Amino acid sequence: MSSLLIRNAAHVVTMDTAGTELSGGHIAIRDGCITAVRKEEPKGEFDQVLDARNLLALPGFVNVHHHLYQSLTRGFPESEGKTLFPWLEMLYPIWAGIDEEAVYASAQLGLAELLLSGCTTSSDHLYLFPRGQTRLIDAEIEAAQELGIRFHATRGSMDLSREQGGLPPADVTQPATEILADSERLVRQYHDPEPGAMIRVALAPCSPFSATDEVMRETAAMARRLGVRLHTHIAETLDEERFCLQTRGCRPVEHLERIDWLGPDVWLAHCVHLSDGDIERLSRSQTGVAHCPTSNMLLASGMARVVEMLARSVQVGLGVDGSASNDGGYFPGEIKQALLVARVRDGAQAMTARRALRLGTRGGADCLGRKDIGRLEVGACADIALFRLDDLAHAGAGRDAAAGLVLCGPVRAAEVIVAGRHVVHEGRLQTVDEHAVVRRHNQASDRLLRRFGEA
Ligand SMILES: [Zn+2]
Repeated sequence: MSSLLIRNAAHVVTMDTAGTELSGGHIAIRDGCITAVRKEEPKGEFDQVLDARNLLALPGFVNVHHHLYQSLTRGFPESEGKTLFPWLEMLYPIWAGIDEEAVYASAQLGLAELLLSGCTTSSDHLYLFPRGQTRLIDAEIEAAQELGIRFHATRGSMDLSREQGGLPPADVTQPATEILADSERLVRQYHDPEPGAMIRVALAPCSPFSATDEVMRETAAMARRLGVRLHTHIAETLDEERFCLQTRGCRPVEHLERIDWLGPDVWLAHCVHLSDGDIERLSRSQTGVAHCPTSNMLLASGMARVVEMLARSVQVGLGVDGSASNDGGYFPGEIKQALLVARVRDGAQAMTARRALRLGTRGGADCLGRKDIGRLEVGACADIALFRLDDLAHAGAGRDAAAGLVLCGPVRAAEVIVAGRHVVHEGRLQTVDEHAVVRRHNQASDRLLRRFGEA
């Protein structure tokens, strides 16, 4: 049992329902939860006191779409100029060499990068299981637990190979029976349904061009039986739309509706190419959307209709997406991209800095079905990111520190607290040695590329 007082924060953005902000405030934490957020200093003894003068306090960011293993191949020269399908076809044979060590090392690296940018909860979508690699998700969960980040692992899957009319080569797909058995094992072993959970598991067949309808349907039935959420990629590119029209005779979101894959327990990555009817389907079914603006621009997939989705009360969170289709895990950068792309698409008034911040905090929590994160409120998890306001990047932005964080930068988070635990202090990870993480990751990356070169 421990307690912490964050004293005299220069500005506090609570992201509560009313959008309360305090210019000067204190946050008290006991046993992993927030017990006070207010202007007056809370009374009582605290084990630790953090002097937060010159710091901006926000709820820790919530990242709702990622593929951590892809940091092994980020900035890959051969990916230049490719759209999603040829990009995946080039990378699948390389990724076919991943193993437990590579997944562990890349999860440590990617999650460390997220933590240092103020992200306190991340999901990950791992869908590629080379033969004999049965403990890859276990390895990512272990890495998350060591770092101290809140983690939603999603058990991805691919069972529709090129030979059967899909996109991935057969050696990175799995039989349906294996997928379903391992999905159930992971939920039973790791999923914590309680408020304050540090680890949850969701089920996540990869996409309409890599998973059969049989696996999609059976996975959905299993998730609903076990009480876990569902996640997949949908409507990312026009290639995918054509693929769905040819193979399923309907648009991607209609396809999901037909196979019982829309609902308040589902969040979907990308949703770039939506018709008015698709937006209506997402709204009506209360399905969440993981908006991944950098990835969508990098692969020239398109600009999602986020402003229209928000107008129809669709729940939208943000994802940095795979480390090889963003090449970075800097979360405030994704918030800025969400703002920029909304303005380019829908005009200067389409997205304010605060609205974008809300997508990166509460919007993400909504996608993950959590009311206990993404806000600084009494009773919520003590997941807090604090950023310096007296550094180079924020100079001149003092009149609106919260907007400054979105518009200026990039900067490292100064302090990050997850479940009341201090995991970043003065811009340094407290739970692992950052340089050791980089070395181990780069060895794994070299080994993966060598293995590919020798194959
Ligand atoms: Zn993705």
